[in-house]
Amino acid sequence: MSSTNAQKLKYVAKLVKNCKKCPLYQNAANSVPGNGNPDAKIFFIGEAPGFYEDQQGLPFVGQSGKLLDKLLDTISLSRSEVFIGNTIKHRPPNNRDPKPLELNACLPYLKAQLKIIKPKLVVTLGRFALNFFLKDQSISQAHGQVFNINWSSLNLTLFPLYHPAAGLRNGSMLQDLRSDFLKIIRLL
Ligand code: URA
Repeated sequence: MSSTNAQKLKYVAKLVKNCKKCPLYQNAANSVPGNGNPDAKIFFIGEAPGFYEDQQGLPFVGQSGKLLDKLLDTISLSRSEVFIGNTIKHRPPNNRDPKPLELNACLPYLKAQLKIIKPKLVVTLGRFALNFFLKDQSISQAHGQVFNINWSSLNLTLFPLYHPAAGLRNGSMLQDLRSDFLKIIRLL
């Protein structure tokens, strides 16, 4: 019998937990492989786990995560219906940007998750996650637009949004984030 998406994702999470391909595991309390619905239509991708994510082993559980939950609620979705992950799976010290070596080491895990889930829509959160897929795009131009791309041999429909943390800092970005979120319904 072939294994289910849930079983396959569990296997990826186990590989992530034991990963020593870059030094980030050394200072991390937990790995944060990502979580949510194994058959999700939407896959949200942030930058990297922060303090609380590292403590709990879950993505977007701090202030940004609370805003993300509220935004999901505006389109009648909950975490249990989507999948949420990050470009890298261990917290960088002091929340610095992930380094190219770390991103490359972690890329196969994100790729495996995307291949298993096959989401209709990949929603990147923030500049960093956008540029992980589309190097030359600026978040202020690209947010709220659809990009059909081939990334690492996968065909993806990318929908870049501002990072919730930016929405918490800046009222006009929060407005953009809210109105971009409403577009998600039409894209599904
Ligand atoms: N910010 C991110 O980019 N990812 C998280 O998981 C939490 C905060």
